[in-house]
Amino acid sequence: MAEQSENKIALITGGGSGIGKATALAFARDGAKVVVADKDIQNGLATVAMINDINGEAIFVEADVARTSDVKSMINTVIDTYGRLDCAFNNAGIVDPADSSAAELPEEVWNKVIGINLTGVWLCMKYEIQQMLKQGGGAIVNSSSVLGIAGATIAAYTASKHGVVGLTKSAALSYAQKGIRVNAVCPGFIDTPLLNPYIDDSDAKATIVALHPIGRLGTPEEVAESVVWLCSDAASFVTGHAMAVDGGYLAQ
Ligand code: NAP
Repeated sequence: MAEQSENKIALITGGGSGIGKATALAFARDGAKVVVADKDIQNGLATVAMINDINGEAIFVEADVARTSDVKSMINTVIDTYGRLDCAFNNAGIVDPADSSAAELPEEVWNKVIGINLTGVWLCMKYEIQQMLKQGGGAIVNSSSVLGIAGATIAAYTASKHGVVGLTKSAALSYAQKGIRVNAVCPGFIDTPLLNPYIDDSDAKATIVALHPIGRLGTPEEVAESVVWLCSDAASFVTGHAMAVDGGYLAQ
């Protein structure tokens, strides 16, 4: 079967690590030309090098998704380089410190988490959609979480990921008849650097693993496959969907 992403241009924010890195590689393997965006230059360039090692094509763009000027220039670089943007994975995100219930959460932590995880996704979508409208279509996947559907005591993260699901549905409705599909992925706990502080001892890790009926953490590659599929023409009737990739977490 021909690769679904052949000759498509795919942008991945937070592409220097974890789920974003795995998705950048998955898009490249599937035939896309990949734009890896991250605020971490070294990690972003390392993902590009890994793509080049498998004979894929990729460029790196330094961008902080919480900064409007960075997001605008990220999209400009995509268009200056490749002339269009077919697929966008708005994936960059951070998590609050472990003990961050609503009343204890410092305001600056709230602002930072919401600024990156929610406002950052909105900013990226704003300029991605403007380009996709000009070219007549595209597909966007936003990074939510099982904590975008279920609650947890990390207040800002949970609020931001619920917000991403709402924003995804809103944009899906606004642009459904303009050839732009907008979906979200809701991963369970995935073995990436973001999770390290939460699984630093074996008891803590076992508690988190036990939340997943499949009985293990997910891998970044398992999320990546879902994102590539959601962006592909195979998902042409799928929009406004929040797809759980969670080892059964939300089925309970
Ligand atoms: P990760 O390994 O920490 O990767 C996130 C990447 O995004 C890092 O390279 C990070 O750079 C970058 N980044 C952070 N803030 C940024 C900003 N303002 N602008 C641009 N890049 C930024 O995390 P991950 O686990 O792959 O998470 C990716 C996404 O999946 C996040 O939105 C996360 O909430 C979501 N998610 C993760 C899990 C999980 O269990 N891992 C579960 C559900 C959802 P630095 O390293 O310099 O910060």
